Amino acid sequence: MLSDTPMRMTKQRKVILERLRSVTSHPTADEMYEMVRQDLPKISLGTVYRNLELMSEEGVVLKIDVGGSKKRFDGNTSTHYHLRCLNCGRVDDLHMEPVKGVEAEAAILSGYQVMTHSLEVRGLCPACGKKNTKSN
Ligand code: ZN
Ligand code: MN
Repeated sequence: MLSDTPMRMTKQRKVILERLRSVTSHPTADEMYEMVRQDLPKISLGTVYRNLELMSEEGVVLKIDVGGSKKRFDGNTSTHYHLRCLNCGRVDDLHMEPVKGVEAEAAILSGYQVMTHSLEVRGLCPACGKKNTKSN
């Protein structure tokens, strides 16, 4: 067990990370499982899930976890903002410069060592917005 498991973990982890970094769709664990299965047909959903959780704890990947909705994962760990559609749940990158001074001010106000900050803008994506307009 000791000789086999760590190697397999490393390979699985590498495939999961490569797949996640190749997309900008912020996939859920289930969506990641479907993608990774193309390379590793025998992998289980639990293994994909555990690896994603572990890598997010280590800061290798970003977990987008806002109450009520499914957790999504992001291979881009740099400070950047997101848009979330309240209808279909899709998450997109918001191509806007992170607001300057937030982290420094937060550190002064709180005494925290601030590493990063995030912002999520919520609304209807263009596709859902169109449908909404038509039905009203
Ligand atoms: Zn939508
Ligand atoms: Mn992102």
